Amino acid sequence: MPTAINTARRLSCFGCTSFREGELSPVASPRRRARSLSEISFASNSVSSLKSVINLQTGWSSPNGSRCTTPSKEVSQFVDRFHRFQTLRCLSAQVDIFPAKADTSWLISWNFDALSVSDEEIFSHVLIMFDDLGLLSPSLVDPEALRNLLDLLALHYKDNPYHNFKHAADITHTVYRLIGACSPTIVLNKHERLALMLAALAHDVQHPGQSNLFLVQTAHPVAARFNNKAVLENLHVAALFELLSEHQEADVLRNLQEQDALVVRDMVSQAILHTDMAEHFNMVSKLDKIIGEGHKSKPSVSLMDRQHLLNLILHSSDVSNPCKPWEIAEKWSKRVFLEFFIQGDLERSLGLPVSPNMDRATTSRLQAQLKFIEFIVAPLFANVVHLLPSTSGLFQMLLQNYQQWVKLYEKELIADPNKEEDMKQDELGMLELHQEAFVKKYQAVIYASAGEYGAGRTREHK
Ligand SMILES: [Zn+2]
Repeated sequence: MPTAINTARRLSCFGCTSFREGELSPVASPRRRARSLSEISFASNSVSSLKSVINLQTGWSSPNGSRCTTPSKEVSQFVDRFHRFQTLRCLSAQVDIFPAKADTSWLISWNFDALSVSDEEIFSHVLIMFDDLGLLSPSLVDPEALRNLLDLLALHYKDNPYHNFKHAADITHTVYRLIGACSPTIVLNKHERLALMLAALAHDVQHPGQSNLFLVQTAHPVAARFNNKAVLENLHVAALFELLSEHQEADVLRNLQEQDALVVRDMVSQAILHTDMAEHFNMVSKLDKIIGEGHKSKPSVSLMDRQHLLNLILHSSDVSNPCKPWEIAEKWSKRVFLEFFIQGDLERSLGLPVSPNMDRATTSRLQAQLKFIEFIVAPLFANVVHLLPSTSGLFQMLLQNYQQWVKLYEKELIADPNKEEDMKQDELGMLELHQEAFVKKYQAVIYASAGEYGAGRTREHK
């Protein structure tokens, strides 16, 4: 076996010797975890050492036995893959999911269900996603710092029905997949990828479960702190950077050059601030304009301002639940309305007007869900599919889910004891026509987008 590969095995395995399968319980103690993280960090550093060894080494044996003076590209690729395997083995051993019991299909699918996995598994998944995006390295993110930050974020997300740590994990996975969807046309650099993933993880941290309007109307101290402007979004940004500055051990930007850290910080702040729904229609109309003016020989995504693209990826991910497989989409829908109704109850108890869609006595969750898809999600994702054609699978799921919501709403209408039979029939007829027109309009969008720049450029995501 070539010397350098022996070196690789020795160095990487040294970092992993404590991670024999079954040795750790699924939830490591904090003390145990701290040691494990140091070992992971060491394993990562070991790879850098290995690369240095290879770069300096001469007289390397090629796979066919001939001698060459510099390592071949294939050898470098082998070492990179070896590194990745060892890193993943180290990371996953902490939560005992890899390789024996691992199901990593979630990495290349929209089926990731954050609500069905533990926080520990989410930590591992996030580390794997960061690693896959090339973000875990001595000059970027230290895995130990990321793991510490995840611990802090899990602690600082509140236990709301919807805006909780699982939601952050869900959105982080969607952002990870949209970054991949960009790649045939536009490659996000390492700082942009890092900014997006960090923004996704923290984009709702400390969310109290009430809307901006509620916080302003009740003169909440947080509203006063941010001058009644984008109150929640400013809170999330501030909370993230306070955590990073107060916990050096969780500062995932500490390895970056000062100027680079500032750039990443600014991209993170902008992206989170643009998750404010008040920015939504502005964002969609800007996209409409870019796509309308798009040069036929150039994909529209390449004409976009980089920060606008980052904002779009995070915001689209944030409202992407209706585009997910039905079982996942339905669970999140129930949760968001549960949170809305709790706010509605609170508003009523305070003598305030109950906000739209938040009155449990008068709101049809099914009807509100349909309107959310029609007015918010579909127009946005029509543009996303145009920019990133490989996301057409998401849009197909949105249309399927829409039809499922219509069926459920029809049943609700039929069973409504407060409506006359004539009125029900009128509404059902209109609903059917409306559904047909909606699906027809957006099917056309999918076909047009998929064919616009040639089939070879698209990469179908499952
Ligand atoms: Zn969110």
